[in-house]
Amino acid sequence: MMRVGIGYDVHRFEAGRFLRLGGVDIPFRRKLVGHSDADVLLHAVTDALYGAVAAGDIGAQFPSSNARYRRADSRLFVQAAHQSIRRRGWVVQNMDAVLITDAPKLLDYRDLIRRSVGRLLKTSPERISIKAKTTEGFPPGDKGIAAYAVVLLTRMRRKRISRRKP
Ligand code: MG
Repeated sequence: MMRVGIGYDVHRFEAGRFLRLGGVDIPFRRKLVGHSDADVLLHAVTDALYGAVAAGDIGAQFPSSNARYRRADSRLFVQAAHQSIRRRGWVVQNMDAVLITDAPKLLDYRDLIRRSVGRLLKTSPERISIKAKTTEGFPPGDKGIAAYAVVLLTRMRRKRISRRKP
């Protein structure tokens, strides 16, 4: 038994010093704007997880009308979505993502992001793929960052029953 989920998100740039992607702070002359920390990749990952188990989306689970999520660390959203799939008996097999932006160049940060997302999804970075695409100035590449994420889930193996002697 398998499940697949897709997530998409986009956030725009504003002047700043860092932007956060996949839980990693990347030095840049701009930041992403949002109600939370605007981690566009983790928002897409969160939606992919909820999507795979048909449990709604990040907006329903963490409404931006709730002041509690203001400037929230988006790792909390992924962790909550991950717990939700685990409770239903699913585990992540792999995740594949595309980040669409003309800058910054993400190659230097790719492995850091893979490790960070792998930790959140309790899986090895080898199962986490991050790809970056530029748009030659075609929106939204120069205005912000868009992210797509796909996750594949499989049924959790049942724990073997302990046969310890009394
Ligand atoms: Mg978002």
